[in-house]
Amino acid sequence: MTAFIAPTEDILFSLHHVAGASSLASWDPELAGDILGHFAGFAEGVIAPLNAVGDRQHAQLVNGRVRMPDGFVAAYAQMAEDGWQGLTAPEAFGGMGASPLIAAGVSEVFSGANHALQMVCNLVPGAIATLMKYGTLAQQSEWIAKLASGAALSTMCLTEAQAGSDLSAIRCRAENSDEGWRITGEKIFISGGDQDMTAEILHLVLARSGPADSGMKGLSLYLCPAQPGVSVTRIEEKMGLHASPTCQLRFDGAKAELIGTEGQGLQAMFTLMNHARIDVALQGVAHASRAADIAAAYAAERVQGRLSDGSPALLHHHADVQRMLDDQRRLALGARAMCHIALVALETGDSPALCDFLTPLCKVFGSQAGIRAADLGIQILGGYGYLTEYGLDQIWRDARICAIYEGANGIHERNIATRGLRPGGGADEFAGLVTELAGGSKTVLERLADWQIWRSAMTQASDPLPQAHAFAQETANLFFAAAWARIDAVADNHQTPQELKRLALALI
Ligand SMILES: Cc1cc2nc3c(=O)[nH]c(=O)nc-3n(C[C@H](O)[C@H](O)[C@H](O)COP(=O)(O)OP(=O)(O)OC[C@H]3O[C@@H](n4cnc5c(N)ncnc54)[C@H](O)[C@@H]3O)c2cc1C
Repeated sequence: MTAFIAPTEDILFSLHHVAGASSLASWDPELAGDILGHFAGFAEGVIAPLNAVGDRQHAQLVNGRVRMPDGFVAAYAQMAEDGWQGLTAPEAFGGMGASPLIAAGVSEVFSGANHALQMVCNLVPGAIATLMKYGTLAQQSEWIAKLASGAALSTMCLTEAQAGSDLSAIRCRAENSDEGWRITGEKIFISGGDQDMTAEILHLVLARSGPADSGMKGLSLYLCPAQPGVSVTRIEEKMGLHASPTCQLRFDGAKAELIGTEGQGLQAMFTLMNHARIDVALQGVAHASRAADIAAAYAAERVQGRLSDGSPALLHHHADVQRMLDDQRRLALGARAMCHIALVALETGDSPALCDFLTPLCKVFGSQAGIRAADLGIQILGGYGYLTEYGLDQIWRDARICAIYEGANGIHERNIATRGLRPGGGADEFAGLVTELAGGSKTVLERLADWQIWRSAMTQASDPLPQAHAFAQETANLFFAAAWARIDAVADNHQTPQELKRLALALI
């Protein structure tokens, strides 16, 4: 199998030159390069070799406790000791206080090396952000320090059997008494709901504190450490992410603390989820990048067929194989640029509406990019792509979830086509961003003009929902093309400018 090589240079180029992180006062390119370089070494040497092991062994439920596959406990211990779990935590709580842009680079490398382990570890930055925003000082000083040191990992407990996409159907109850809050009920599909890498686990639980019929308004967010009142009743058998334990959890009057105020649960959870959505988009980018690397290495070695002069051809000499290799690279670099542009917008804080518009676009496009690039990789390798030997099957199986969790893509597409187009919904700012990214690209600007006509039709439609998917897809494709126009404009800062310009040509 092709060894995992972190796409460090591509990530730094994308953040600094394409997304314009260089314009932020908080951006330190040398620090970013150092941190990403160190993590890349760790990911290549320690985490990536465990990826196939985890896929084969699966996390196991043994006597009511989850056991991670071989090597995961030791790898996590080293990661915690090196301080990686505290990357985004404030220094006051023992963290590194690194910028979200650096964290995004690290997170992508982590996902490319081992998505299953990344999923269990990477709910921590969102949990820290939620506690910083809504937690009491006591909650912050106890839990952020533990999460940053790696002594504890956290989970996000939303889903219930009857409450998947529709969280208003949550039944898990939270009741207050003289002894404090207690939670009773069942949650399903909880990533990292149990594991044997940390002594403590902090569950962030969305539960109903209001009456049964109180919908979203009756939901509150709770901090509920693992304890005898929380048990794992099963772990799911899945098509991918075998090393990530997806747990069914039972809460039997488990002691909990309210985070923020009663009824504010969904709002508080959104802090967690917004972080998680770009993170999921970057999981897709990581899969696209890894699939492209594997396919390119294979296509450069496999001899098959003949060139026009009769000499033996390598796979990548065939025009159709080159087309697929190009598509993979375009997807990886373009989707990464989209995420980084959204993250820089989030960092500047100038336009929350633009960020709300871009986040679902990134989630939809990034998740699809991972699946599509993995699928192309399988095709490029032919029969060998369909075997397990080269790992493309695992990439395809692991990447597939990205279009489902953190809000199924169809729900994000609906939001882009409805809420996003209302006054103040971010569509005007999006059009401004596309114009800016397009530079002199006539193709992108013409496409934007067509999009504006479609946008206006969507706004006037009595029922825009049947068109929501097609419209959101075109919106994402337009953003993708605009991101490539920017990549083309700054390509001279990359090690292979001609290659990037060649890839851009098809879109701009
Ligand atoms: C591997 C894995 C890890 C997970 N980790 C976690 C976790 O850590 N914490 C957690 O709380 N949950 C987690 N989940 C749950 C995940 O978030 C849900 O599966 C997801 O929200 C969808 O819910 P559902 O499966 O009940 O599908 P449903 O809600 O039944 O939806 C099925 C399909 O119907 C469509 N659909 C549904 N509603 C709408 C709508 N309003 N508009 C348009 N289309 C719609 C979508 O296409 C969707 O894919 C995980 C799931 C998996 C498989």
